[in-house]
Amino acid sequence: MRLEGLGYHVPAEDRGGFFGEGTEAAVRAFQQRRGLAVDGKVGAATLRELEENSLKLGDRLLRLTSSGMRGDDVLVLQASLNALGFSSGKHDGIFGPRTAEALVEFQGNLAIDEDGIVGPETLRALDRLRYFSRLGMGTGPRTRERLARTSGPPGIAGKVIAIDPGHGGEDPGELGPSGESEAEICFTLAAILALLLDQDGAETTLTRGPHNDPLEVERAEVANDLGADLFVSIHLNSHSHSQAEGAAAYFYEMQGVASEPGEHLADLVVEELATTGRVNCRSHGKAYPLLRETRMPAVMVEPCFITSPEEVKLLLDPEGATRIASALRRAIARYYLDGS
Ligand SMILES: [Zn+2]
Repeated sequence: MRLEGLGYHVPAEDRGGFFGEGTEAAVRAFQQRRGLAVDGKVGAATLRELEENSLKLGDRLLRLTSSGMRGDDVLVLQASLNALGFSSGKHDGIFGPRTAEALVEFQGNLAIDEDGIVGPETLRALDRLRYFSRLGMGTGPRTRERLARTSGPPGIAGKVIAIDPGHGGEDPGELGPSGESEAEICFTLAAILALLLDQDGAETTLTRGPHNDPLEVERAEVANDLGADLFVSIHLNSHSHSQAEGAAAYFYEMQGVASEPGEHLADLVVEELATTGRVNCRSHGKAYPLLRETRMPAVMVEPCFITSPEEVKLLLDPEGATRIASALRRAIARYYLDGS
């Protein structure tokens, strides 16, 4: 019913509570559209998107809560505030401290009660200014994120960088041709990268140890609590064909609005990995929970395919792993020097 309400086609034979092929196809179409992993299954992330997708601004009172209210109504609010120059941070549909700050600033400017609540008065003010018709959705520049990159001295020194090795603990991630685990290889890459960045004067933190597997929100929380400048998550790609190989990177994007700094870094990452002989599988915008929940510019990188015997060999060789980690380090260095 919810998918139908959102305009996705559910065939007659599936109505009345039957999860058939048609429903699965509708789930896949929805996932594709929202930048989720497209698997046709209604897991936690998809369920949350389904619930949030139907909220319109004005459906409820929006305010800062400890868990952070989420939904498309928040997304519209952020787009409106951003477009007006009240930067509400990452365009993530989560009512966090920055959104609250931007809202209070906006209210102050319009001489409305500065209560940080989107109630009737604030809605009327937004309406009066007819932002929504003029804006459409999500034209907002992401000024704070950009500032985060260009303020302070250029270069890696002094930057707080959170590095997230994928999987871990009970979850090995994808497996290589001889049972090599994605979790272990990612941890090694992350540890080498941290070492290299520390040598450049950065303060690095790993989001997990060698043997545990925190939830994605917990990993994001580590970075948020640190006030990290940058978040780099390391995974490996996989494919049923062993010939598939190359490097890809992902940045946060929701409904066509991308994190500008995230996209920039993702581009640099695949460019630098290509200089190590990797096939450039490009950068892609995704609404992965990890990219969304982190408040700073974030990328997820898959430098290689764990299902490619050749690339696994490279990764298991300490020199090869260092080459890959060095490419990531160069991308981060360029990111902090480019500044544009
Ligand atoms: Zn993975």
